[in-house]
Order: sequence, then structure tokens, then C-alpha cells
Amino acid sequence: MSMQLGLEGMPDRLVRVTPSRLATWQDCRRRYRLTYLDRPAPPRGGPRAASTLGAVVHTVLHAVYAEPAHRRGGDRAAALVDRQWSSEGFRDDAQAATYRERARTWVADYVERHAVAGAPEPLGETVGRERWLSAPVGGMVAEGRADRLDERDGVDGSGSAALRVPEIVVVDYKTGRRVPDVEDARRSPALALYALAARRTLRRPCRRVELHHLPSGTIAAADHDEDSLAGHRERAGAAAAELGAAAEAFAADPGVAETLFPPAPGPRCGACDVRRHCPEGRAAAPADPAWAGLAP
Ligand code: SF4
Repeated sequence: MSMQLGLEGMPDRLVRVTPSRLATWQDCRRRYRLTYLDRPAPPRGGPRAASTLGAVVHTVLHAVYAEPAHRRGGDRAAALVDRQWSSEGFRDDAQAATYRERARTWVADYVERHAVAGAPEPLGETVGRERWLSAPVGGMVAEGRADRLDERDGVDGSGSAALRVPEIVVVDYKTGRRVPDVEDARRSPALALYALAARRTLRRPCRRVELHHLPSGTIAAADHDEDSLAGHRERAGAAAAELGAAAEAFAADPGVAETLFPPAPGPRCGACDVRRHCPEGRAAAPADPAWAGLAP
């Protein structure tokens, strides 16, 4: 029994979790087992175009922000897309070429708008790019890579505008079909955990979290308060304790797999990369083509 977590049946040591691990656990427990616990790891599905596109854009922006502002430019960012490009998962060469051109436009527009010297909508100083964060949060160790951490002038925790102090802002890049809104940013467990971990790691205030959607140029921003962060911390801590206990039970007795890690079939099974190992998921939805989910 846990002394650390104070929860009956929970593991004694702090569980280390990333936001994607927590999300997988909450989405489908069978997928969690197939992805994180089964060894040797079962073969996964092939590359998906939306993931390829997202990886290219992330890599390009990571490189752009490594340069000082006066050396950044939309043309240079677009050229980086060409250098980093991969066509894995796209339907054919024509579709890949279309999205390569779109990605060039997305990053060029974003950089000219926010990142160059004298940009019309600057976003503060970047203090972390794909920064690894790891910090005890709510009975677990939350860790992962935040796409970007910016530093901007903010207000202190009392809300007094007279006491302006620099704050850390968590930035997450999005390249998918759906345009995120403020509620997406507010509800995101990943962004909240990064905010909590950034506070601990950088010892600075951090309340604002932002989703930057490159295809639409949308920035969905939410300001957390102590209550909203506490809610995220509690939910994530409870999930981490559950998944840690389930993993320990599975390690002790693999026969509990079907009981502790049931499938959660639904429409999303079409894009699940372990569906070949899941009869219930295959029955629930036909396989999506590898290029499904691209922004229009
Ligand atoms: S196919 Fe569906 S039910 Fe099966 S593991 Fe994947 S998400 Fe879960």
C-alpha cells in the first residue's frame, strides 16, 4: 500500500508519466498496454501523413527559434521545410507536394508575424525549445518536452498590474484539421502539466498556456488560476496512480491483461496504430487511410 500517495492499492514509488502516456491511458487501456507495457513491443501501423507533417513543422520551428530574431525570416523558414521534408504517409507525390507547399506558407507566415525582429505580433523571448521538463506534480513525476517556453511580462499571482514580473508561457504547435479554441487550451492536461512542471523547473510564475495552430494562424490562449491547475493536478495524479497500479499488477500476473486493460472501441479505432492486434477495434471502425486527418 502506498504511503506516498495515500491511495489503497497504489504503488509505493512515484510514477513517471508523460502527458501522451496519460492521454493514452484515459483514451483506451488496451492501447496503453500494447504501446507501453507489452514487450517485445508489438508491430505498429505505418507512418501517417498528419504525423509526418506535424513533425516537419515542429522541427522547422525548433530550428528557427534557435537563431536570434534578426537572423530569422519567412523565406529561410520555408527553405527549411524543403530541407526537412518527408513524404511518408501521403497518398501520392501530388498530395505530398501540395502539403509541402502549404507547410512552407504556414511557417513563413508564422515567422514573419511573430518571430522576426520587429514582428507585428511578437510573443516575447523564447527561453526553451522542446525543453525537457520533469517535476513532481500531484503524486507523480510529470515529464515531457514542451514545444516552446516563452517569457513575457505578466502580473504577479495577486493580479496586481503594479507588480509586473516576467512569466513563462507554454506554447504547443498544432497542425491538424481542427482549429483549437480557448477551451481546448484550458482543458488540455498536457499544457497544464507543462505549466506546473515549468514552475517547478524554472522557478518562475507560469499560468498562460497556448495552442498555436499553424494552418489557420490561430493562437488559442488560456490563463490558468490556482484552482484550475489544482484540478488538472488532481486528475492527472489519480490517473497516474491508477496506471501505475495496473502496470504493477500486470507485471506480477500477465493474466490480468484483459481485466485491467479492456478495449475502448469507437470511431477513433480507424486511426489506432495498434489496431491490428485488437479485434474489437477493427470491428468498430474501418481503417482510416494513412493521409486522413490532414488539415484541409
Ligand atoms: S483499436 Fe480501438 S479499442 Fe483497440 S486498442 Fe486501438 S483504440 Fe483501443
